[in-house]
Amino acid sequence: AATGMGALSGGAFGWAALWYRRRRLSLSQQVKRALADGSLSVVYQPIVRMRDKHVVGVEALARLSDEAGEPISPEVFIKAAEDAGLVCEVARLVIRRALADMRDELLARRDFDLSINLSVLDVLDAALVPYLNDEIARNGLNPDQIVLEITERSTARREKLVEAMKAFQRSGHRFFIDDFGTGYSNLAYLASLPISGIKMDKMFTQAIGKEAVCSAIVENICAISDRLGLDLIVEGVETEEQAAYILQLRNDAFGQGWLYGKPGRTLPSTGDSRPHC
Ligand code: C2E
Ligand code: MG
Ligand code: MG
Ligand code: MG
Repeated sequence: AATGMGALSGGAFGWAALWYRRRRLSLSQQVKRALADGSLSVVYQPIVRMRDKHVVGVEALARLSDEAGEPISPEVFIKAAEDAGLVCEVARLVIRRALADMRDELLARRDFDLSINLSVLDVLDAALVPYLNDEIARNGLNPDQIVLEITERSTARREKLVEAMKAFQRSGHRFFIDDFGTGYSNLAYLASLPISGIKMDKMFTQAIGKEAVCSAIVENICAISDRLGLDLIVEGVETEEQAAYILQLRNDAFGQGWLYGKPGRTLPSTGDSRPHC
């Protein structure tokens, strides 16, 4: 009877695994196709200095739709691209597009930054530094206006990662820790990484005024980032109440969220930004 049960659950697991593999295969095929035909697109969301809502930059966010035109979450297709060994190609496409799209703004305003999300595989890809530098030079841009975001989850193999980050830094780029507060890394560890700032995850922003525990965490993130001399970008700011709460903790905080602008094809200030969330 015991072996019978084993075979049964093994079979059920086998079906689930097969279904999962098929789904991932088709996702990675969609990424591959989008890379080839250019249908993988990039949208831009403003980042503002919260106290006066002055736009200090944008974050580039990748977008992909399925055959039916339904958007696929970047969390899903980036994971698929990582598993299929395609994520470095995605990074290159996002870099090439974003630099071209934001070129005029970056040249016109030296205080305007372009933030790009990198997966840990991108940071460890030694060929990405020269690629990025070539694209920057080709567009006549300044390397210190490029900000690289990596998630806290990706900060595992420290020595290798720090070394790789330093290669980008030597070229003039800065790093921010994305989705700060959602990983398991301790603060001492994060403080030892060569970073300029952190982006507080939107789950904390959205709990402001709702959950006392999260408010305590928000207070701590504001205080500790300040003490460590790190810039703070608050993600997912949707209401004036959330903004006011943050500003009373850190008057120099930067913010990103629907209150200031949704991701769009162009900068909101240019007038015809199409919301594209
Ligand atoms: P992220 O880097 O933390 O990006 C912020 C996410 O929050 C974006 O989701 C954005 O649309 C969303 N967001 C911004 N403001 C608000 C708000 O006020 N309320 C709410 N509810 N959401 C808001 P999105 O575009 O779905 O991207 C999800 C994640 O996918 C990103 O999180 C990033 O980690 C990853 N990603 C996106 N593009 C790329 C890329 O080119 N490369 C890599 N490696 N990852 C990417
Ligand atoms: Mg990001
Ligand atoms: Mg983030
Ligand atoms: Mg996030």
